[in-house]
Amino acid sequence: MKLHEYQSKTIFSKYGIPIPKGRVAATAQEAKQIAEELGGRVVIKAQVLAGGRGKAGGVKLAKDSAEAEQLATQILGMDIKGLPVRKVLVDEASAIDQEIYFAITNDRTAKKPVMIASAAGGVDIEEVAAATPEKIVKVHIDPLLGLREYQARDVAVAIDLPRAYWKDFVKIAMGLWQVYSATDAILAEINPLVITKEKKLIALDGKMMIDDNALFRQPDLVEMRDTDEDAPSEIEARRYGLSFIKLDGNIGCMVNGAGLAMTSMDVIKLFGGEPANFLDIGGGAGADKVAAGMRIILTDPNVKAVLFNIFGGITRCDEVARGILAAMEEVKPKVPMVVRLVGTNAEDGRRLLENAKMITAETLADAAKKSVKAAKKRKINS
Ligand code: GDP
Ligand code: MN
Repeated sequence: MKLHEYQSKTIFSKYGIPIPKGRVAATAQEAKQIAEELGGRVVIKAQVLAGGRGKAGGVKLAKDSAEAEQLATQILGMDIKGLPVRKVLVDEASAIDQEIYFAITNDRTAKKPVMIASAAGGVDIEEVAAATPEKIVKVHIDPLLGLREYQARDVAVAIDLPRAYWKDFVKIAMGLWQVYSATDAILAEINPLVITKEKKLIALDGKMMIDDNALFRQPDLVEMRDTDEDAPSEIEARRYGLSFIKLDGNIGCMVNGAGLAMTSMDVIKLFGGEPANFLDIGGGAGADKVAAGMRIILTDPNVKAVLFNIFGGITRCDEVARGILAAMEEVKPKVPMVVRLVGTNAEDGRRLLENAKMITAETLADAAKKSVKAAKKRKINS
């Protein structure tokens, strides 16, 4: 889950990282009002969950509140990378001497968090990393010991930060480490961290990504989620606790267990098909969850066939069958459905589905073959 800049910076400031004074606005009038409160010279910043807003024209400086209103009108009417701008952040403008890049993220290969910094921060950081990787400093953090102050000081030295800023830099680094740990983040980034003309270090931009698997223990962050920009099917799936990822193929998949879901997708591909989604209904799913999964799969117009691969363990096949029947009542699917039920109460499940005009299969290979065939036929007919 991504957080907006204004949300990230609010969290930063709670952990002692200095940020510009400012507030978020949903209308140009509000933006003008905030600009007046801040003394006129402000920066208007599009709040969308995408990077590169500056280059896309979504970050603009205003010299007074009238210009702030005008720029806010303009930015609030924009689309950035396909995302509509619904809010702008109005921050006190800073006079910049230097832009630094500073972030903490997961290094999956090293299985450790890593601190990344560069003296050449700002909007061109990707080009810096590609063309002059030696300008990027990386220091791993021991997950058990946490970030040590000497490590932060090493980074300050490595990016040639003048000595006068070391103390503040270490404080910001320790703060960002606390942010990263406390929020279960997979990214906490400040780009740019600036040295102002007044010789202060301040976080001008903020970006955070939270590990979705940790959201169960981050209720305050879940509250901050902006669902405006998520696919409706993913919002619905989240509501029912289903793990769902939309893909580009035409065979809808409903499976219990992530491993079995992956295997089912692999086997579909092996027989020349393309899965339309990943969907894990989880262990012990009841009829309502199954029905929700089916609704989600069938709202995708690309879906030409559905494969149910249910291995009954804690999940009871008769419950799943009841869910399928309930969903069929409701959505009246027009596409062929292939079902493979094995394990707990599979007999009962099959009996329930006997009159449901579904294609039955004994093995996963058989089920995959039949769904690939059904989807192909359907494509030719439609
Ligand atoms: P991003 O493009 O989405 O990363 O948005 P940023 O918030 O990082 O802003 C992009 C660039 O705009 C920064 O790298 C700065 O160069 C510039 N910028 C942002 N805020 C200010 C400000 O208060 N004063 C000045 N002079 N420039 C700013
Ligand atoms: Mn930035």
